[in-house]
Amino acid sequence: MVAIIGGIPGVGKTTVLEKTGLKVVNFGTVMLELSGLNDRDRIRNLPIEKQKDLQKKAAERISSMGRVLVDTHYSIKTGKGYLPGIPPWVAERIEIENIIVVEADELNIVERRAKDMSRSRDGELEGIGEHQLVNRDFAIALAQMKGAVLSIVKNEEGKADECAQRIKEIMEG
Ligand code: ATP
Ligand code: AMP
Ligand code: MG
Repeated sequence: MVAIIGGIPGVGKTTVLEKTGLKVVNFGTVMLELSGLNDRDRIRNLPIEKQKDLQKKAAERISSMGRVLVDTHYSIKTGKGYLPGIPPWVAERIEIENIIVVEADELNIVERRAKDMSRSRDGELEGIGEHQLVNRDFAIALAQMKGAVLSIVKNEEGKADECAQRIKEIMEG
């Protein structure tokens, strides 16, 4: 594994990563396959222990995929609080060179979530700022643990191509 890409739901990770043309694996898709569920937005409502079990199994699968960008989350907002997306027992299984945090303006994120009918994401503006802060903190902790390079990239409105270009520069030098 080469890079972890995280950011709060609806910030635009999957859209931007597709535009990079690089090899990507979606951590949530692997968890979904392992879960037997049919709706990825229900994973975060499973009991915490079940989420942690799926998380560990997904990491095991992904660790054998070689050089890949991992589309995932630094923290998952559950009914009980923020669950770390890449806790130490997941991080120790995988090689991580780059840690990329995708961020955007809070209002833009609310609008993106509202427009995207394919998903059921939280619709409230309240809490988005806190979640972006918490995500950054978890990403920093992971970078420190792994000695990996941390980058914060903005996915500005209508500029997903520019964000993808920035990620390519980080990955390809
Ligand atoms: P999740 O974590 O829930 O999978 P995500 O970060 O992968 O979310 P996407 O599904 O990529 O988010 O994007 C959410 C919505 O925002 C989509 O409808 C997408 O078209 C739109 N979007 C993404 N980037 C931009 C952008 N730069 N400007 C405007 N809309 C955008
Ligand atoms: P996504 O399409 O990126 O939102 O992924 C679907 C769901 O998978 C997310 O909403 C989370 O519930 C879950 N998920 C993705 N990555 C992780 C992770 N690293 N740890 C725990 N759950 C995750
Ligand atoms: Mg996505």
